[in-house]
Amino acid sequence: MGDPMVRVPISEQEPLVRAKNFEEVCLGYTEEEAVEEASRCLNCKNPRCVGGCPVSINIPAFIEQVKERNFEKAYEIISESSALPAVCGRVCPQESQCEGVCIRGIKGEAVAIGKLERFVADWAREHGIKPKTNAPKNGHKVAVIGSGPSGLTCAGDLAKLGYEVTIFEALHKTGGVLVYGIPEFRLPKDEVVAAEVENVKSLGVKIETNVVVGKSVTIDQLMEEEGYEAVFIGSGAGLPRFMGIPGEQSNGVFSANEFLTRNNLMKAYLNHDTPISRGKKVVVVGGGNVAMDAARTALRLGAEVHVVYRRSEAELPARAEEVHHAKEEGIIFDLLQNPVEILSDENGWVRGIKIIKMELGEPDESGRRRPVEIAGSEYEIECDTVIMSLGTSPNPLIASTTEGLETNRRGCIVAKEEDGETSKTAVYAGGDAVTGAATVILAMGAGKQAAKGIDAYFKSRA
Ligand SMILES: Cc1cc2nc3c(=O)[nH]c(=O)nc-3n(C[C@H](O)[C@H](O)[C@H](O)COP(=O)(O)OP(=O)(O)OC[C@H]3O[C@@H](n4cnc5c(N)ncnc54)[C@H](O)[C@@H]3O)c2cc1C
Repeated sequence: MGDPMVRVPISEQEPLVRAKNFEEVCLGYTEEEAVEEASRCLNCKNPRCVGGCPVSINIPAFIEQVKERNFEKAYEIISESSALPAVCGRVCPQESQCEGVCIRGIKGEAVAIGKLERFVADWAREHGIKPKTNAPKNGHKVAVIGSGPSGLTCAGDLAKLGYEVTIFEALHKTGGVLVYGIPEFRLPKDEVVAAEVENVKSLGVKIETNVVVGKSVTIDQLMEEEGYEAVFIGSGAGLPRFMGIPGEQSNGVFSANEFLTRNNLMKAYLNHDTPISRGKKVVVVGGGNVAMDAARTALRLGAEVHVVYRRSEAELPARAEEVHHAKEEGIIFDLLQNPVEILSDENGWVRGIKIIKMELGEPDESGRRRPVEIAGSEYEIECDTVIMSLGTSPNPLIASTTEGLETNRRGCIVAKEEDGETSKTAVYAGGDAVTGAATVILAMGAGKQAAKGIDAYFKSRA
């Protein structure tokens, strides 16, 4: 048994090896390692970790079962609250949620809750264990728009309550950002995401792909002509923002969304029918998780990669683990710098980027120190590809084709936090479509609340 203050280390692919492949970076705990890590849990009487989890997983209870080697029981406990544990165990920002409030973290290292969740979910998958439901059908039909984490969670919870649920998904694959955004080396698509989507289907949820709600069918038609009595909108925030600087229309400038979609969803790194830029020198603009994913993907495609971010390292919005991995792999961080122009050659292809240096001024409304340009500090970097990763907002299609659905000035659907209720009767919404780009677990939490809200709506009519 090791030092109880210190986490059981987890195996990862070596940085210089993984920088050249798309296989998963983190290799997960073995049974022995998981049991040892689980025994670090203090099984607190008032477990703060549960309050730190947006879907309220009974964390001490599942960890106790891992300690006792009852992995199937541990999975049963997790799957009462979460439809996507193998996903969350890999991509949740645990350091600012469950692990951020773990008592072990006060004097030592917090229990590796996320890695244990991943272990349990992987173990269950490898042993063919599925989530359970025995709810009788109640005869009510609910439509869910979007098969991302919010839609899958809402659909799964409603199915467990006996509703007949159909998810309508615009793309040909299910999972939302989990399949088109987050790269394979952080979240394997076929092995992990597809398996968890199958688990949701095993609860009785139907999924129709290639249905763009707002084009193929509207919400009003689903409700008035197709017999859906309630709708949950979990359509995400997939519309990329650009900077509006000169040269942004040049060939070789991508949104991170397009770059990652080509790579992840269409496996462009394997499949030459889906072209992808294999730049020699790539500049990624932005400092969030999406920027890290784009940078690490471009690196794996063979490029030298610079991340240009206008604030300092302390303000980088990406998870510390992602920044650490990116640095280990050889990504170069050009901090306190901001692009002012993209330079192109006579054929309109990117040949470089003009950058200005910044310093931090007074705090802005977000509480972070505002970056201020240093006059006369412009310089140029040569590059052949620029990837803009500046955030996204919801696509206006659904709101513009649904009678009486209110949105705010950022284009987000207005919905109540406690139950997802929108301005339109029997229509609920949650996840990135409501909050703007956020996290998997917050989207799942919103899907869960909306499932409760929809159930309460039906009960109030009974
Ligand atoms: C590259 C990237 C990396 C990220 N990394 C992390 C991370 O490490 N950890 C983390 O917690 N979060 C991460 N996030 C954020 C997280 O993935 C999102 O917050 C989360 O997926 C939002 O879930 P959602 O269900 O609201 O929407 P989405 O996942 O966006 O799913 C929405 C779904 O709705 C579908 N849809 C949209 N419009 C329609 C329509 N009109 N008709 C039918 N279907 C429609 C879309 O095709 C999509 O499948 C990342 C995001 C990106 C882009």
